[in-house]
Amino acid sequence: MTEIRDLRLFNSLTRSIDPFASIDPGKVRVYSCGPTVYNYAHLGNLRAYVFTDTLRRTLGWAGYDVTHIINITDVGHLTSDADAGDDKMEAAARAQAKSIWDIAAHYTEAFKSNIADLNITAPTEWTVATDYVPQMIDFAKAIADRHCYELETGLYFDSSTVPDYGALAGGRDDAAHARIDAVDGKRHPSDFAIWRRSPPGEQRQMEWDSPWGKGAPGWHLECSVMSFDRLGHPFDIHTGGIDHREIHHPNEIAQNQAYCECGHDLPAGFTGARWWMHNNFLVDRSGKMSKSKGGFTTLFSLKDAGVHPLAYRLLCISAHYRNELEFSGEIVATALTRLKRLVMAVERIRATASTEAKEQPFSGQEALALVSLKEFDEAIREDLNTPTALTKLEQVLSIKKCPATIKLSLIREMDKVLGLKLDTITRADLRVRPKDAVIEEAEIEAELDRRQQARADKDFAASDVIRDALIAKGVEVMDGDPLRWEWQINLGG
Ligand code: AMP
Ligand code: ZN
Repeated sequence: MTEIRDLRLFNSLTRSIDPFASIDPGKVRVYSCGPTVYNYAHLGNLRAYVFTDTLRRTLGWAGYDVTHIINITDVGHLTSDADAGDDKMEAAARAQAKSIWDIAAHYTEAFKSNIADLNITAPTEWTVATDYVPQMIDFAKAIADRHCYELETGLYFDSSTVPDYGALAGGRDDAAHARIDAVDGKRHPSDFAIWRRSPPGEQRQMEWDSPWGKGAPGWHLECSVMSFDRLGHPFDIHTGGIDHREIHHPNEIAQNQAYCECGHDLPAGFTGARWWMHNNFLVDRSGKMSKSKGGFTTLFSLKDAGVHPLAYRLLCISAHYRNELEFSGEIVATALTRLKRLVMAVERIRATASTEAKEQPFSGQEALALVSLKEFDEAIREDLNTPTALTKLEQVLSIKKCPATIKLSLIREMDKVLGLKLDTITRADLRVRPKDAVIEEAEIEAELDRRQQARADKDFAASDVIRDALIAKGVEVMDGDPLRWEWQINLGG
């Protein structure tokens, strides 16, 4: 069996970085709350999956065999965290005059293409909420008598029937729940819908028969049901964005406790998963990036602006997942430049490695490179410290006189965790043509050559004219920079 290396991870349950131990030796079971497919994922959503991918890769790095589930929410998620109001999917279908199934299929496919563009490892299995409605009904039946009550609008979970409701959020906060929710008859503001009965006289596109009438499952139910179905209980790690730490995950935990308690005593502190991990938000100047605010930035719009998706991955891992990360056009442009420098350096190392003599005497420089790998390893195993890990990679690149073959093998190792495709990607791959660019690449190169000649001839007036003409077409000329030229990116600052 592969040797398992120590790993320390922040657990939102304890609010501390604790030594990680898996339930089954050598194996880790991970469940990540997936996207609600009523719209394109915005960059903030995608940060959540770069985080889970980094977690998954790090678990692999530490020697674990990982089973990873991501769900697709195609039913039940309302337009707020509340229990009253429209289902996001129903609302999108109405607005676009399409069937919910078409909406779900379209945005699921778009999400999967984003995942692939970001080099996020596909989960072991995608689970789709609507495939699990019969199991959700069975789960609800199992907990209904002891933990739920019926109102006209459906079946509700009584949050006072489980120990420590809301502990994950740092304590029960009925006042906060009262602000977001207004369902007549609820016993406590924190109670939540398990089954939402279709309003009389209203036919939903998605509804199922149940012991509590025709309707649809409450949003939290799906994750309890799918995680237990695919991973058993308890499983090792449950992930999501930090917003889920407040409502969605405490509600999942309450359901898990209710379900597992039936018929036998629960071990103290049982929540369904041993570790709950949350990524912080991607924010822009107006606050948390969100789909409901409209005008959000997607990976598609980033590509249209000429930014390679892996620049966004690099931006994500250049911050710690538990810190907020600010997004702007300038910030992502800087990440793109950093990526280009990395890729150019690796290209040079690859070229040197192919001509290098096989046997190299062991040198002090080589030892230095190995120290960088050791420090990289320590950083990544300490709650996924990717910002430090990245600087260790850059350190390896900058060591002079270390054999290129050694450097290349270290880069390959590190990239197993970072996922930047450094071994295969070329500088040319990173030149994503902006959608509304008015100039072809060949023309840019020709103009730059002409300008270089003008400068060599000391005809600075002509050189300036060429530069200004290029700027007018969105091409920024970077004198003295080995990157030579950049597209101008206009993402609204
Ligand atoms: P949703 O599609 O709304 O269900 O969200 C998918 C994932 O994105 C969830 O794990 C959310 O917690 C996470 N998320 C939502 N907004 C942001 C944001 N601005 N930054 C980081 N993660 C987010
Ligand atoms: Zn979930």
